[in-house]
Amino acid sequence: MQRIYLDANATTPLLPEVYEAMRPFWIEHFGNASSIHQQGQYARAAVEHARDTIAHMLHCRASEIVFTSGGTESDNLALFGILNQPRVALSEPYHLITTNIEHHAVLHAAHQLEKQAVEVTYLEPDADGVIQPTALLKALRPNTRIVSIMLANNETGVIQPIIALAAITKAARAIFHTDAVQGAGKLPTDLSPHGELRDVDLLSISGHKMYAPQGTGVLFVRRSIRLAPLFHGGTHERQRRAGTENVAGIVALGKAAELAQQWLTENNPAAGPTQLANLRNRLEQGLLAQVEACGINGIDAPRTANTSSLYFDHLEAEALVIALDLKGISVSGGSACQSGAAEPSHVLSSMGLSPARARATIRVSLSRFTTEAEIDTALTIIPTAVARLRELSPSWNNLKKSLKLDQAEPSLTGSVT
Ligand code: PLP
Repeated sequence: MQRIYLDANATTPLLPEVYEAMRPFWIEHFGNASSIHQQGQYARAAVEHARDTIAHMLHCRASEIVFTSGGTESDNLALFGILNQPRVALSEPYHLITTNIEHHAVLHAAHQLEKQAVEVTYLEPDADGVIQPTALLKALRPNTRIVSIMLANNETGVIQPIIALAAITKAARAIFHTDAVQGAGKLPTDLSPHGELRDVDLLSISGHKMYAPQGTGVLFVRRSIRLAPLFHGGTHERQRRAGTENVAGIVALGKAAELAQQWLTENNPAAGPTQLANLRNRLEQGLLAQVEACGINGIDAPRTANTSSLYFDHLEAEALVIALDLKGISVSGGSACQSGAAEPSHVLSSMGLSPARARATIRVSLSRFTTEAEIDTALTIIPTAVARLRELSPSWNNLKKSLKLDQAEPSLTGSVT
């Protein structure tokens, strides 16, 4: 059975060109980039070339790129790197503003910082999953040191108004971090002094969300920002991240950034719906037309072209994920990093979804490899799987029964939500 992979927000497949670029650095060019000899220098040159390529994609300086082990480390380095520094005014604790829709890489770091006496404010999104700039304005305080708000949400794909949020933060003389793990390579990211993201000081990227291998990442650190390191050791990455560089991974990330930039030029979301958006929309419209009591979370907000957060009331998403898996389709329930947890997604809950609807939501995320034929196959499999599961659902059967009664007795009205 040819599987259909619709879980690209969990991880993307490796691009063949990325694999080819990386392969020699495991075998013939295995040098340590810190070694003085020729093998070391070869590795160093490859690391610096990758740094230049990523800087080109982000429109920033090569010296502003710090290689990490992925999105989680980049987020932690951004938050602890700023908040673990000695306070200027010792009388006041630092204040961090973040949101209730962040990935756990930010949320759990914030919880940890609270234990270290940092004051934290968690902003709530509106019903579409958007953090409104007015909410940030209200939350800012004189002791706000850093604001951390994601570029695009991993569960819903909802894109945050980062330009406005970063500008507000800058006006308040605080530092702005964005977790761009689900945005990089999908949305333009211009960090240059005249670019849209000019007020962003720190930006996290993860390689495995942009067709590079797992365990690779970047933190962009604007030149003016001083960062306390998370790790103590060698002087790698200009003393911002100790540890021997993952040369093969960095080379792969560089190649993936080059290809992402090319892809974005050909698939610029600002120039109208892309092929990927058309495929996602085809799936959504097909499901809405065929399946009762289903809908899309965040539908009225700007979203990344590949992501759909779909609810099918009266069933458990976990059961649907398993049923689809057995039919050869990979999707996830809420966020992949949370699978196994029975709790409804914190993102969907903070958007105001009931626990039942949040638990009835699956995330479908397309990749650059997704084809129209795959979407059409999914459009035959998903409705059948939903119908089968609902046959076993007491709430669905009760609803259907009451609707039948309603039809028999017109005085009782009911509707499928
Ligand atoms: N931030 C977001 C928005 C994510 O979606 C993820 C992973 O799903 C991460 C951070 C963590 O990245 P990594 O898996 O590279 O540690």
